Amino acid sequence: MGRYTGPACKQCRREGTKLFLKGDRCYMAKCPIETGRPVPGMHGQRRSKMSDYAVQLREKQKLRRMYGMQESQFRLFFERAQKGHGITGEKLLQMLEMRLDNLVYRLGFAPSRRAARQFVNHGHIRVNGRKASIPSMILKADDVITVRDSKDSRDFATQYMENAESRGIASWLKLNKEAFEGQVLQIPSREDIAPIVNEQLIVELYSK
Ligand code: SF4
Repeated sequence: MGRYTGPACKQCRREGTKLFLKGDRCYMAKCPIETGRPVPGMHGQRRSKMSDYAVQLREKQKLRRMYGMQESQFRLFFERAQKGHGITGEKLLQMLEMRLDNLVYRLGFAPSRRAARQFVNHGHIRVNGRKASIPSMILKADDVITVRDSKDSRDFATQYMENAESRGIASWLKLNKEAFEGQVLQIPSREDIAPIVNEQLIVELYSK
């Protein structure tokens, strides 16, 4: 299955929640979720009671879409989380948060995860001083992320850092705006990660 290339807002409307796919627009009053635009499709408004399976599936889709991942890659993440120590659902959320593209977005170097992925892909990011161009790379505590020292790279990041900082940088990250540098202070706990999903439902779905 290929990557979804349709309208981002439609995905949020489908899930009935903000997935923050479009950068600054997601924080404005004109966000379709804020304005109450209905679920897309002819029968969007007339949903009957969902089965347990459907509820689990929607929860998984919500999380997968939020991080902009394809099913196969998301499934791989889940399997890795299952093998690691700790609670599978929590581990999955932590792994998603520690992806390089997510961290670039969280630090405000790019307006959305999708844009962050491109920014990483095009070689604008360094991790611990070395070029890092794999968006799905999982970082560790203490890792340092820097925007490449070039005018293009830093001009791009400058456009978004201010807004991100005014919305607040996650407590488990540190941003040094002047140096275009961010650091992972610690792996986020479940409480640190905005609880947009019930991850246990995703564990149940994949455990069938
Ligand atoms: Fe669109 Fe962002 Fe609102 Fe989602 S959160 S509906 S992507 S503006």
